[in-house]
Amino acid sequence: MPGTLYLVATPIGNLQDITLRAIETLRAVNVIACEDTRHTRNLLTHLRISNTLVSYHEHNEFERAEELVDRLLAGESVAIVSDAGTPGISDPGFRIVQRAAEVGVTVIPIPGPAAFVTAVTASGLGTDSIFFGGFLPSKKGERRKRLEEVKDIPSTLTFYEAPHRLAKSLADCSDVLGDRPAAVARELTKMHEEIIRGRLTALAASFAGQPVKGEIVIVIDRKSSEPVKKESMETGLPERIAELEATGMDQRSALKKAAKEFGLTKSEAYRKVKIKRGKPKDR
Ligand code: SAM
Repeated sequence: MPGTLYLVATPIGNLQDITLRAIETLRAVNVIACEDTRHTRNLLTHLRISNTLVSYHEHNEFERAEELVDRLLAGESVAIVSDAGTPGISDPGFRIVQRAAEVGVTVIPIPGPAAFVTAVTASGLGTDSIFFGGFLPSKKGERRKRLEEVKDIPSTLTFYEAPHRLAKSLADCSDVLGDRPAAVARELTKMHEEIIRGRLTALAASFAGQPVKGEIVIVIDRKSSEPVKKESMETGLPERIAELEATGMDQRSALKKAAKEFGLTKSEAYRKVKIKRGKPKDR
């Protein structure tokens, strides 16, 4: 009788996010296949589990999947873990699940965190339909091509990104997708966790001048049925406020709406406008 393949999710930062089922499974299986044996050994030590580890990473995924399937067919139970989060999500896992399914081995998922789900739920953007795009290509041309491909998907878009590419990627996102509302979720579940919300252009500008560290998920609103007019974004904040006032909106509401469009808080927008044209009348 074949053994069972368990896909065990592990924390994305905070070790308390391990589930009871994950602990039980990691203790009970014959072997744990993991991306980095040293990394997983630290997690097991924290959980007071000593079990056999074998490496299973992007460079040996195909051969190792065959060896592990042989062990499963011989009746052993195997757990797959990645360095963080859910195996198979921008991590190895897919190949062995595919092979296990082909040979009739039972696959049991032990769910837990995945960074893009954690990010999107806290972003304030729509959760009814979510597109996960994995890592954006590192080369500008390929990245922009990829963004063109996903631009009309009617879902909240999520991407993983390396910190040193964040500002450039946000700028490309803004150029290709338009200046949509977005969020950058950084270091989720860790000490320096932050979720920064704003429009893509403002986010790109705010990250351009500063070194960014840590792990990052970019969350972007779906294409709006009422996009902000590009011309009006280009004319600048005071002009946009004037434009809104010309439609009959009072100055306070116009400032609030324009601030939102530019990814600014009301007081940031107020300061900018004050510098440019003096104190707005009704504040
Ligand atoms: N398997 C993981 C999951 O389920 O989300 C993803 C692994 S992928 C190799 C690593 C990327 O996930 C990071 O570069 C980052 O983009 C994202 N990520 C992982 N942990 C994160 C965290 N704590 N906060 C924000 N992003 C995170």
